[in-house]
Amino acid sequence: MSGGAGRESPTAGRESLTAGRDVAEGTGSNASGRPRFGPGRDVAMLVAKARDGDPRSVARLISLVENGDPALPEVAAALAPHTGRAEVVGLTGSPGVGKSTTTNELVRALRAAGRRVGVLAVDPSSPFTGGAILGDRVRMQEHTTDPGVYIRSMSSRGRLGGLAAATPQAVRVLEGAGCDVILVETVGVGQAEVEIASLADTTLVLLAPGMGDGIQAAKAGVLEIADVFVVNKADRPGADATYRDIQGMLALGERQPGGWRPQVVRAAAIRGDGVDEVLAAIEKHRDWLAASGNLRLRRERRAAAEVEAIAMGTLRARIGSLREGTALATLASKVAAGEIDPYAAADELIKGL
Ligand code: GDP
Repeated sequence: MSGGAGRESPTAGRESLTAGRDVAEGTGSNASGRPRFGPGRDVAMLVAKARDGDPRSVARLISLVENGDPALPEVAAALAPHTGRAEVVGLTGSPGVGKSTTTNELVRALRAAGRRVGVLAVDPSSPFTGGAILGDRVRMQEHTTDPGVYIRSMSSRGRLGGLAAATPQAVRVLEGAGCDVILVETVGVGQAEVEIASLADTTLVLLAPGMGDGIQAAKAGVLEIADVFVVNKADRPGADATYRDIQGMLALGERQPGGWRPQVVRAAAIRGDGVDEVLAAIEKHRDWLAASGNLRLRRERRAAAEVEAIAMGTLRARIGSLREGTALATLASKVAAGEIDPYAAADELIKGL
């Protein structure tokens, strides 16, 4: 990745800009903020530049993903040969638990180990939180001049369920740009966050003392997706109790022989304490994934979800466009008149797609 190439005009890509050069979009957006983008050579060139580590091209590609641009199939095809190697680590947990502080420290440690790092901060719950995330990511500012780090936030921009489909594509862009490790941070503990975090090879669930997180985690189904629990704010009273709660819950859970037992790590990210232990737990999980064959399984599951999401999106769009034609109207009038039942009509509709 080339250093310094991404100095932007202060207004470029502000909407999705997080903390610096890596995420600034290039020119070429129209007034509505949607990238103006033609097929063919443009895509090939953009992908080639992203592969060279040009941060503006990476940012543009992620914007295409975020906006569901029609050029995406081409982008995906161009990126495909360069993907599948990066380690993807998901982080989730309640707001305020210390995700961005922890991410920042993980980035620091990974950089010290010579790894290239991508960070995707994803907010599935609100279309309007790009700014909020931006505020939070100020902590990551120290990494914004580092050419080996890309930091980018994505919000749903009002498209429900869009991020679960878009996140894997954004991961592919970062992989294509040469990131060895990609940290995908989500901002809550709801179902959408769980879905996104579980797209990772390894999922970290962060907890903190005194936030009732153990109970919340159990409720939101987070216990099932956690490969590593990080009890952050270990400098605060109550951290030991939270640690014991989680260990207790894990002891109750059933595991298949040879299955992974989630690790529980104490950390005080604000002081950088426990970060090496978190990385060690991630590595241990990764070794288990590889040795047990689960890495391949997980990735295939992730790919299946990705393909399904794309197919569903395509189907929805086609069914939606039927409303403008006569096929649906004709079937609807037959159903309303009792000539055919709605299941038969739906079958016919699908056959005609
Ligand atoms: P996020 O919302 O989960 O991303 O949480 P942040 O990383 O923004 O942290 C929320 C607040 O908790 C900030 O004020 C941090 O300084 C603080 N914080 C983060 N880690 C620690 C920690 O290990 N100990 C203490 N005492 N505070 C922390």
